[in-house]
Amino acid sequence: MALSRVLHWGPMAALVIIFWVSLATVACNSMYWPSHSSWGGLVNLTAFLMISSSTLYHFMSALLVGPGHVPKGWEPQEESDKEMLQFCHTCVAYKAPRSHHCRKCGKCIQKMDHHCPWINNCVGHQNHGFFVGFLLSAVLGCAHASWILSMSIYYGLHRSWFAHHGLGHEPKVVLTLFTLIVFIFALGMAIGVVLAVGALLFFQIRSIVRNQTGIEDWIMEKAAYRLRGTSKTLLNPYDLGLSNNFGLVLNLSCRPKCDGIDWPLRDGAHKFDLTHEQILQKRDKRLRTREYRIRLSYSGSWCPFWSMGFRVACQPPCADEPRIPLDIGDVVFVTRWKKHWLYGDKAQQSLTTNVRIRGWFPRKCAIEVVDGRHAEDDFSSHDKPTKKKQR
Ligand SMILES: [Zn+2]
Ligand SMILES: [Zn+2]
Repeated sequence: MALSRVLHWGPMAALVIIFWVSLATVACNSMYWPSHSSWGGLVNLTAFLMISSSTLYHFMSALLVGPGHVPKGWEPQEESDKEMLQFCHTCVAYKAPRSHHCRKCGKCIQKMDHHCPWINNCVGHQNHGFFVGFLLSAVLGCAHASWILSMSIYYGLHRSWFAHHGLGHEPKVVLTLFTLIVFIFALGMAIGVVLAVGALLFFQIRSIVRNQTGIEDWIMEKAAYRLRGTSKTLLNPYDLGLSNNFGLVLNLSCRPKCDGIDWPLRDGAHKFDLTHEQILQKRDKRLRTREYRIRLSYSGSWCPFWSMGFRVACQPPCADEPRIPLDIGDVVFVTRWKKHWLYGDKAQQSLTTNVRIRGWFPRKCAIEVVDGRHAEDDFSSHDKPTKKKQR
């Protein structure tokens, strides 16, 4: 189980980067600031090795500890609470507050933030602290590595110049073509990590400060849209103030303080504020759902240039969401509209399977079913109402 989590492109690539940058930096440091000849060099090397091990430790912990799952068959103690929660048909359990079903993990995840391909696991309740520890160590370690690597490459490339014109106490860095390439690649990776992981760290810290996950950001945004024009507002029920919010996720052990089912709440908030809001949002989505029947089969191709034409292939929905292969006669319940693409749930023939098939398909494959009749879905007549609905 643990091995299958690691044997995936994400963790393998992350481990290659961690080891490549660490080994190249240690090799450079031994020439740039040798640890055997000065205390400063020893302290510098020790500091780097500590932060590098911390990166590896927090990375493996986030991957192996996992986010925490809602127990199979879980239901609230009070019968009346069931109507405030959504039911997951795959896990055959109610979705506890803050939990969401991850299609990649195939389970309901406690306080799900996002599915991270680099750890090949979800980031959620149990591993949030480890994940942030990993991001922080990676950014600090790579900033340190970028400095040692770039200074070493600089002194290595100018070695002969310093031999003639230098003061004699410059670091003596010897490069071969092979080590130069290895160090330049390591420097590129280290700078890339500082920028990309640094941005991710910023969003994670913001999420901890507000005690609001990435998914909850999205729910709150949709709630603000749903409640516009009314006197009601929805406040995040889990926001306990800066220091309490931090304490819930970050501490020395990186382990969370509550059980992932019952959450401490802000004064005046109710434990089902967000779950009830989601139910209302789902209801609104059902109201705007429209039925389409397939008249041209579609292979599920991401770039259907030959079958669907230039305009469809060149204006794909810009999203990391699936495409669904369809046959003539299939029925799809559409919830999102783009000029050349539609997104929806495919109607299932057999009721035995609970797996939903949903995704994007070219708009020209389908015609809308209106009161049991087929209406030609030409863009001119539908663009205006659908655009309004998308917003
Ligand atoms: Zn589930
Ligand atoms: Zn997942």
